[in-house]
Amino acid sequence: MIHVHQFPCLSDNYGYLVHDTDSHETAAIDTPDGTEYLRQAELKGWRITQIWNTHWHPDHAGGNEAIKAATGCTITGPAEVEGRFPIDRIVGHGDTVMLGETQAAVLDVSGHTNGHIAFHLASAGVAFVGDSVFALGCGRMFEGEPKQFWTSLSRIKALPPQTLLYCAHEYTASNAKFALHADPDNAALQAYADEIAAKRARNEWTVPTTLERELATNPFLRADDPAIMTKWGGAVPHETFAALRAAKDNF
Ligand code: ZN
Ligand code: FE
Repeated sequence: MIHVHQFPCLSDNYGYLVHDTDSHETAAIDTPDGTEYLRQAELKGWRITQIWNTHWHPDHAGGNEAIKAATGCTITGPAEVEGRFPIDRIVGHGDTVMLGETQAAVLDVSGHTNGHIAFHLASAGVAFVGDSVFALGCGRMFEGEPKQFWTSLSRIKALPPQTLLYCAHEYTASNAKFALHADPDNAALQAYADEIAAKRARNEWTVPTTLERELATNPFLRADDPAIMTKWGGAVPHETFAALRAAKDNF
């Protein structure tokens, strides 16, 4: 059985430790802060045996070295990590990674960076999506281009709707403001935004989210929705996505 331990890291990242109770393996999903990950693992009584990186940014791979030095764990991630932070095994779209007997499928979800990947644990109904998709948002398009990013989001859209999406940042409240601007007549979005405001007022986490909810409310996943396409322009969804992403950057 799989357990996900979530904890805040740095200013607005979430740290995740995934533990398999049968094999006693533990995977660190990204490494924003090596010291905090090691402390959290100790609190849980778990030993980190693997690191799975989603992309090369320092708030995702910057703790690789410290955790590997302390634990001797194996580091798996996309090729873009190599030369920047320690990595042992490079994986890409279609590869699988094992935590004990539990399989994670590697998905190309590039666009935020050119090599960004996600890990989908189908048997547990969870996906670790890094900075590709957020609750009511998506990552900034630092390296990719709109068609590539839309293809990535389409892969996420195709996962089972009940999938829990573990995003890497608590950006939901500010994302909600833009989402309401992008899609003002969406009743499901308005209800979600109210819920988010109440949760943040109580200092509660809004992550993970479910894909089902994001499909109904996240404008970046809805760039193929006729109403969004009419409002934001674009002959094809990736053009609508580009318009939304540009508008959010300047919002
Ligand atoms: Zn990033
Ligand atoms: Fe990040």
